[in-house]
Amino acid sequence: MNKINRREFLKTTALTGAAAATINRLPVLLIPGDIFAATPLSMSANKPIAISSGNGTKALELAMSIIKDGKDALDAVIAGVNLVEDDPNDMSVGYGGLPNEEGIVELDAAVMHGPSYRAGSVAALRNIKNPSKVARLVLERSDHVLLVGEGALKFAKIHGFKEENLLTEKAREAWLKWKENLNKEDDWLPPHTIEETDIGQIYEKYLRHYGTIHMSALDMNGNLSCVTTTSGLSFKIPGRVGDSPIIGAGLYCDNEVGSAGSTGRGEANLLNCSSVMIVEWMRQGKSPEEACLLACKRVNERCREKRLQDAQGRFKHGVTFYAINKRGEYSGAGIFSGGTYLIHDGTEVKRKDCAYLFKR
Ligand code: ASP
Repeated sequence: MNKINRREFLKTTALTGAAAATINRLPVLLIPGDIFAATPLSMSANKPIAISSGNGTKALELAMSIIKDGKDALDAVIAGVNLVEDDPNDMSVGYGGLPNEEGIVELDAAVMHGPSYRAGSVAALRNIKNPSKVARLVLERSDHVLLVGEGALKFAKIHGFKEENLLTEKAREAWLKWKENLNKEDDWLPPHTIEETDIGQIYEKYLRHYGTIHMSALDMNGNLSCVTTTSGLSFKIPGRVGDSPIIGAGLYCDNEVGSAGSTGRGEANLLNCSSVMIVEWMRQGKSPEEACLLACKRVNERCREKRLQDAQGRFKHGVTFYAINKRGEYSGAGIFSGGTYLIHDGTEVKRKDCAYLFKR
């Protein structure tokens, strides 16, 4: 798949003929022209494809092997991300994920199934390491789409999930370092000598960070499904929910068109409903790359808060979008250059550079 640069993007999207230099101020298509216009994309014959964020190599391999066994894309994507949820070394998802500001791991996940057009999700779920499995049960065995907190935990336990401590030593130590270096005025201090005076200031390395896995897949029957699962923003306020478990923000799929998802600053995607927008732009004929770039553009243009912008007024936090369409075309894109995503085209996992709006 060819990557297009920003200039070509502006040309091909025909949003405006304005010069690339004014990209920040260009109008963005806020509402798809006719969101209900059914324009199913013709699919390529039984060509499976799966896309994920950069932390999904093993997850994609497993997902593709399940797809090649003729199984449904939903089975494949959930089994794939379960590997990452189980991995204590991935500190952004499931077991071993970084905790909230009180040192408690709270997980968010959602799944969406193209053929049945159903979805399920859980948010702020504690003590259960595979929130994506619980999200699937919400889809399959409830009349709801989203369960949160205590209710989500009770629902999981009723379905036989066992509670466990998700905070690994590594995550606990990272949290404690953050807490000890958060504020010079509080009583929490990192180890220090009697000579030191400036203790407990925020160091760059203790700043909070994001991390998640999204996976979308097209199976051998031409059906689409997707999942997004995360421990969310590290050291968040308890109860904070990002984009990952919100259908339309952190993921979306339409079996006639394509599937999309996001990682990065969830608040931006919540405000922009990025994943549903990407799918709707694809419905209107945009390629996955064009659609992902439009989502980046929308996030960038709609940000009015200076604290979230760099010196040039650009949205400075990371957001990355992933999309595949019914034909098996795919792309990932971020606001700035340097990001990567993974694709499994049925042969092997390949790491690809994300398309972008601005060169870093
Ligand atoms: N989007 C996730 C959230 O905001 C985090 C991430 O993807 O890094 O919770």
